Amino acid sequence: MNDTAQRVYDHFQNTFATEPHLYFSPGRVNLIGEHTDYNDGFVLPAAIDKGIYLAILPTAGEPGRWISLDFNEEVTPDLTRIAPLPQEWANYVLGVIDQFQKGGHTIAPFHCVIGGNLPVGAGLSSSAALESVVAYALTDLNELDYDRPALALLAQRSENQFIGVQCGIMDMFASLMGRENQVIRLDCRSLDYQYFPLHTEGLRIVLFDTGVKHSLAGTEYNLRRQECEAGVAHLQQYDPSIKSLRDVSLSLLEAHRGELDPVVYKRCKYVVEEIARTLAATDDLQRGDLASFGTRMFETHAGLQYDYEVSCPELDLLVELVKQDAAVIGARMMGGGFGGCTINLVREEAVEALFARLATVYEEKMGRKLAMYNVTTADGSNLQEVSAPSVK
Ligand code: ADP
Ligand code: MG
Repeated sequence: MNDTAQRVYDHFQNTFATEPHLYFSPGRVNLIGEHTDYNDGFVLPAAIDKGIYLAILPTAGEPGRWISLDFNEEVTPDLTRIAPLPQEWANYVLGVIDQFQKGGHTIAPFHCVIGGNLPVGAGLSSSAALESVVAYALTDLNELDYDRPALALLAQRSENQFIGVQCGIMDMFASLMGRENQVIRLDCRSLDYQYFPLHTEGLRIVLFDTGVKHSLAGTEYNLRRQECEAGVAHLQQYDPSIKSLRDVSLSLLEAHRGELDPVVYKRCKYVVEEIARTLAATDDLQRGDLASFGTRMFETHAGLQYDYEVSCPELDLLVELVKQDAAVIGARMMGGGFGGCTINLVREEAVEALFARLATVYEEKMGRKLAMYNVTTADGSNLQEVSAPSVK
């Protein structure tokens, strides 16, 4: 067990004087396919080796005590009358139970300890990891009849309804369905999915965290969705089968460019190109051509920066600084934009020197510290093997 798993397990044992089951669900990265989900396009996430651990055991009838190690808080919720608590982390657990109850299942009280090794709010989806680990553990312990995609949908509903965040399905899907050395190509329209090999020998997946989250994110996100819808509404007159930008070809868009508001045109162009790029990127993976894959990541960034306009100076600086670096195969901003992390494919031996160089320039220009996370691809939600307790 790694340090985090051990800490969570030991805390449970020390608190409740009994041995729990230990579950893990990962966070995720998205290699390519940004702002494509709500346009019915494709995304290409992978589960990572960092996430949330849950030590859990049903109680013998008494109310369950839930402990968050990272927030240093404890709650004892009443599962017969589920209502939001002031402790935000507990609501992610309650929201999942609420969904099980809506599905007609009774969840008996349980003790649990929660702890993670995933940065919170950095865009690696700690919230989905938490929901997924709870959903997976409760299904396993109660022998409920949900497969992993169904659990992803349940977790998404819980975040939509109980937390009130209108997120898509990608994060939960990746957390539950991820596989080591593979990415998932998820069709956001049909939820069909396919695995593609991501062999990163000699390379590392590195995230550079800007540490900023500009407040524009929410309003601009809603505006982008409207701009995409405006493009679709106009183009439908030429082809009634068009339901979303997924159905629009670049040639159709170009043929009617002059009729579209120039901003709407730019937004649509980015999305249409990005959907095609994501499909082409999976061809790269099948051929084992990571150089081509990386070039597409840079293209995605340029599209997000100039056409979709959801980047920010901090993200642009971090991508600009690695563009000419032969050790960096590809880089782009990841997530909704206006802050968060860049994702980079970097030659292993160059990672430390690269971080040192970026951190210096970033602090000089932006007056902020740069954080780096090294991640590898990993399997989705699972029950952890617990090593035999050491004899003291
Ligand atoms: P992210 O981009 O990481 O998903 P969110 O704001 O969506 O960020 O979710 C973060 C929230 O998820 C935290 O405020 C907390 O309530 C919950 N959470 C994340 N990690 C943990 C953790 N290790 N322990 C308890 N709760 C967590
Ligand atoms: Mg989240």
